[in-house]
Amino acid sequence: MSDQYPPASLHPDTLALHTGIAPSQYGENSEALYLSSCFVQPDAAASARRFASEEDGYTYSRTSNPSVTAFERRLAALEGAEAAIGTASGMAAILLMGMGLLKSGDHVICSQSMFGSTIKLFASEFGKFGVATTFVSQTDVAEWQAALRPNTRLLFAETPTNPLTEVCDIRALSALAQGAGALLAVDNCFATPALQKPLALGADLVIHSGTKFLDGQGRVMAGAICASRKLVDEVFAPLIRTAGMVLAPFNAWVVHKGMETLAVRVQAQSRHALRIAQWLEAHPAVERVFYPGLPSHPQHALAMAQQEGVGGAVIAFSVKGDTPERAREHAFSVLDACRICKLATNLGDVKTLICHPASTSHGRLSEEQRQAAGVGQGLIRLAVGLEHPTDIETDLARGLDVVG
Ligand SMILES: *Cc1c(COP(=O)(O)O)cnc(C)c1O
Repeated sequence: MSDQYPPASLHPDTLALHTGIAPSQYGENSEALYLSSCFVQPDAAASARRFASEEDGYTYSRTSNPSVTAFERRLAALEGAEAAIGTASGMAAILLMGMGLLKSGDHVICSQSMFGSTIKLFASEFGKFGVATTFVSQTDVAEWQAALRPNTRLLFAETPTNPLTEVCDIRALSALAQGAGALLAVDNCFATPALQKPLALGADLVIHSGTKFLDGQGRVMAGAICASRKLVDEVFAPLIRTAGMVLAPFNAWVVHKGMETLAVRVQAQSRHALRIAQWLEAHPAVERVFYPGLPSHPQHALAMAQQEGVGGAVIAFSVKGDTPERAREHAFSVLDACRICKLATNLGDVKTLICHPASTSHGRLSEEQRQAAGVGQGLIRLAVGLEHPTDIETDLARGLDVVG
C-alpha cells in the first residue's frame, strides 16, 4: 500500500511509535482497528486490478488488512527490513518460510537447540515432504560448515536459544550461507529488534513470534517474517493468500500497540534479569545459570557485542539433584513454591513466568533430541518481567532454600 508513514530515516524509538498507516479521515491518534474480513470495491475494473495485484487496495483479509499492514510496517521499521509479513503465530511464520523457500530434495541446517516445535516441524513434518534437515550445535560454526551440501538451501538459527540462551555468531553463519548460495534465517524472539538486528549482521530473514516480547503483555498469538521486499511480495504474500496462515486483524492491532513500548520493556526486564541471574548464581541449590549477561556464559563476549551489551530477559537455571528424577523433583518444588512467578509456558510478558522445559515446551521431543538440546530434568526457565527483582528473588528462595 502506498500510504507509507512516516519516513524511515527516523530513529527506532520514534519509528516504534509512529510507523503504521496514515490515520483515517477522523484523525485518530491511537491507531484504528480495521475489524473487517472484506473491503468494498469502488468499481468492477478496480476490483479486477486489485485481485490481479496490479493496483494497491484491500480486498479480503486473507490477502491483506490495514491493521495487519500497520503491524508489518512497524516491525519492518524496527528490524531495518524492507518488508515484513504477519502470520497467525510464530510457528505459522516458520511454516510459511519453509513452504515458501523449500521443495522436495532441498536440505536445511538447523541449530539443535531451537524452540521445541521448530525442531519437530523440520524433523517430522518437512521430512514427510522430502526436505532433509541436519541438526548441528548452535555455537560450533565448524559443525554448520561440515553439514553444508550442494542442495543446502537454508540455515536456521535462534539466538539466544530457548531455553538455554546459547548465542551464535550471526555474521559467521551469514558468511557460510552466502558462500554456499543458501539463505540464513534467524529467530529473533528472545533478543527482539530492541537488542539485536540480525539483518544488519547479514541474515536474510528474521522470524518472530509476536506472542512474546512484541506483544509484551501475553494477550494474543502472532508471528511474522521480515525479509526483502522481493521475497515478501513474490513468495510469501502469494503463498499466504493461497494457504491462509494469516494474522488476525485484532491480534495485529494489539501487537502493533505493544511494540510502542518494546524497547523500554526489554531494557528494564533485562536489567532485572541480570540482577536475578547474579543472585541465582550465588544460591547453593543452583547447579548452573545460563544467562548471556553473566561472564560465566560461554558466549558472553559475543552476546554483548551482538546484543548491544544487554543479556535479554530470559534466564535458564538448573537445580541440583543426584539423579534426573531427584533434579526433576527439586525443579517441581521450586515451581510449586512460587506465588509471584506464574507457572506458565510463555515468555516476553511483563509478568514473570516460570516453567519446566523438559515436561512442557520440549516435552514432545525424544529423550535423544532433548539431550541434544541440553534440556535436563533439573532445568527451569524464568522469563523475567517488570516486578521488583527482590520480590522475584524472595519468591524463588521459598523453593530453593528447601532444596539447598
Ligand atoms: C514461542 C516461540 C516460537 C513460536 O511462536 P508461537 O507464537 O508460540 O507460535 C518460535 N520461536 C521461539 C524462540 C519462541 O520462543
